Amino acid sequence: MKCKICGREAIVKLRSYNLALCKEHYVEFVKRRVEKAIKKFKMFNKDNRILVAVSGGKDSIVLWHVLHSLGYKTTGYFLNLGIDEFSMKSQEIAEEFAKKFALELKIEYLKDELGVGIPEIAKISRGKPCSTCGMIKRYMINRAGLKYDAVATGHNLDDESSVLFGNILHWQVEYLDRQSPVLPRDRSLARKVKPLVLLTNFEIKFYADLLELPYIQYKCPFSTGATTYFYKSVLEEIEERMPGTKVRFFLGFLENKKGFSSPHRELKPCKKCGYLTTAEVCSFCRLKERISSQFIFR
Ligand SMILES: [Zn+2]
Ligand SMILES: [Zn+2]
Repeated sequence: MKCKICGREAIVKLRSYNLALCKEHYVEFVKRRVEKAIKKFKMFNKDNRILVAVSGGKDSIVLWHVLHSLGYKTTGYFLNLGIDEFSMKSQEIAEEFAKKFALELKIEYLKDELGVGIPEIAKISRGKPCSTCGMIKRYMINRAGLKYDAVATGHNLDDESSVLFGNILHWQVEYLDRQSPVLPRDRSLARKVKPLVLLTNFEIKFYADLLELPYIQYKCPFSTGATTYFYKSVLEEIEERMPGTKVRFFLGFLENKKGFSSPHRELKPCKKCGYLTTAEVCSFCRLKERISSQFIFR
C-alpha cells in the first residue's frame, strides 16, 4: 500500500475517500479537513480569538492541536466537574498539553460555582446525571466564551451524524433546525463552532495516536450513553458496507436543512443571570436553587 500523494509506504487507508496515506500526508489530511470545515462554514479567521473547550478527551485535544498548528489564536478552557480521579486526570492532561505547546489554559471548578460537583448532583437528580452535566457544561463554557470571538468544541462527524440520525428517527424537527456546525453570537450566547465535523472518530484517534498526543483513555464513570452508542454503531455498520455514507448523510442534511426549519423559539434573558432561555429562570439557575435547598454549606 503506497501513499497516494508521495508514493512512500502508507500507514493508513481511508475507505471513505479511497485514499492511502503516509504519516506526513495523513497529518496534512487531518489539518486540511479542519481547515475545510472552518472555511466552508465560515467559522472564524486568523484574527479571531478562539476559546477551545478541552475535556482531556482525544477530540478536544486533537482540535486544540490542529487549530494551534494551523496558526489560529487559541486559549483552552477546562471545567473541572469534581468527578474525583476522572476530573483530576483529565485536568492533568489539559495542563500537560497547554504546557507542552506553551498555550494559555483557563480552568474553572464546578465546586466554586455550585458548592458541589457532579457526584453530589447525581444524588439529587433522577436517573443519570448526564443531561444535567451537559447543561452545566454548555452554560459554563458559554459564559467563559463570551469574551472570545468563538467557542470551539470537539464534536466530530460521528457525534453529529448520530445525533442527526436520532433526531430524524424520532422526527424531532425542532432539534434538526438547531443542529449546525456554527451557531452565531446572540446577545448572551457566545458564537459556537465545531471544526471537527468533517472528521470521524477513527480519523481523530488515529491522528492523536500517531502524534502521541496525551488524552484521557477512560470514560466518565457516570456515562452510559447507550442510545448514542447504539446509533453510532448502526451508522458504523452502514459505513462499513457503504464507505462515505456518514459524511454524505451529514453534509446532505446541511444542504437540505431549509426544509426542516421550525418556528423560532422566543429566547429571553434569564431573570437571575441574563443567559438566554425559553423559561423565566434558566436551568442552570434553577439547579443552583435546588442545590442550595438540598445541601447545607458551611
Ligand atoms: Zn505521503
Ligand atoms: Zn440563569
